[in-house]
Amino acid sequence: MNYELFQHPHKSIYLIDMKNEQGYFSELVEQSVRKHLTEKKKILLLTNKTGYASGIFCTSCGHVPQCKQCSISIGYHEAENKLLYGLCSVCKSIYDMPTSCEQCHKNTLQMYGLTIQKTKERVQDNFQITPLVIHAPDGASFPKAKKTRELVQQSSIVVATYALMPVEEVALFDVVIILAADQSLSLPDYTVRKNTFYNLYRTFTGFANKFFLVQSYDTEHSSIHLACKLDEERFLADDTLFRTAHQYPPYGELCIIKYNHENETSLHTAIQNLHKELQYLQQSYQYEHIEIYTSSPLIYKKFGKFYYHIILKGANIRPFIDIAFSKLKMAKRGYKIDWMADSLI
Ligand SMILES: [Zn+2]
Ligand SMILES: [Zn+2]
Repeated sequence: MNYELFQHPHKSIYLIDMKNEQGYFSELVEQSVRKHLTEKKKILLLTNKTGYASGIFCTSCGHVPQCKQCSISIGYHEAENKLLYGLCSVCKSIYDMPTSCEQCHKNTLQMYGLTIQKTKERVQDNFQITPLVIHAPDGASFPKAKKTRELVQQSSIVVATYALMPVEEVALFDVVIILAADQSLSLPDYTVRKNTFYNLYRTFTGFANKFFLVQSYDTEHSSIHLACKLDEERFLADDTLFRTAHQYPPYGELCIIKYNHENETSLHTAIQNLHKELQYLQQSYQYEHIEIYTSSPLIYKKFGKFYYHIILKGANIRPFIDIAFSKLKMAKRGYKIDWMADSLI
């Protein structure tokens, strides 16, 4: 068996291990969709990604096209006329859909990402049904609440993102399928554990549905496992232990010093200089318990400018930052401070 069943009163949650699955949909999801369609039941497919593809990669050289202004991969969307176009989600620059790799010039480009549009195509291919797609506001259309309800009532399969599916509509479905529960877990931030847990937990507990199918590559992760167990108490206890051990808020303080520059070398010089000065002050004023390190933000380049961070973490860091702020004239030198950061990204 490729899944684990969590049985609760009035709810069955199937956690499916995608590591041993071949396709976009696991075998259990395929079977379940076919069974529920035959029984004229309603099926909801949930994913986190909007648009058509999260990005493109070249299967020959591994190249991923990025925005010229920003260090993120270009996402792809479908226009009204069904043609695909590239869009940078940061600066909104528009790009043409490439036909060959800009690096090795081979014709081996492939799209990736479990997006709602891609899911729509897979549903059409696998089940010969055109599902209703609830679009993001910056996508093609976003039906009004009343219209959505009518459309949802007429459709046997609906594809949507967590955020866009109104709570009262989800109760109309007989089975809810979460396509990639671990979609956000790779983000380098301590808050993703909690967000992942509550995305699932609220979906499970908020609705009266009987069946939930959850696909994930990481089935052992405590955020996913404990959500399927509906064990909020245990999750919060674990999260508290984790945050206490690493001194993350609210069990420690977090301050992020941010700097940006058009010139990459100037950026790194400015960051390295301040880092050394902070370490010197730390020793002089005996604040050795504070952890100070440099870190690249999630998006290193935005609108043609480069960004870098210095992270300060520990108990009672405020007095030290007050000293550093005035002694090192940080404001005048262009460093911005997030005094009470509640996330690393
Ligand atoms: Zn951009
Ligand atoms: Zn290539």
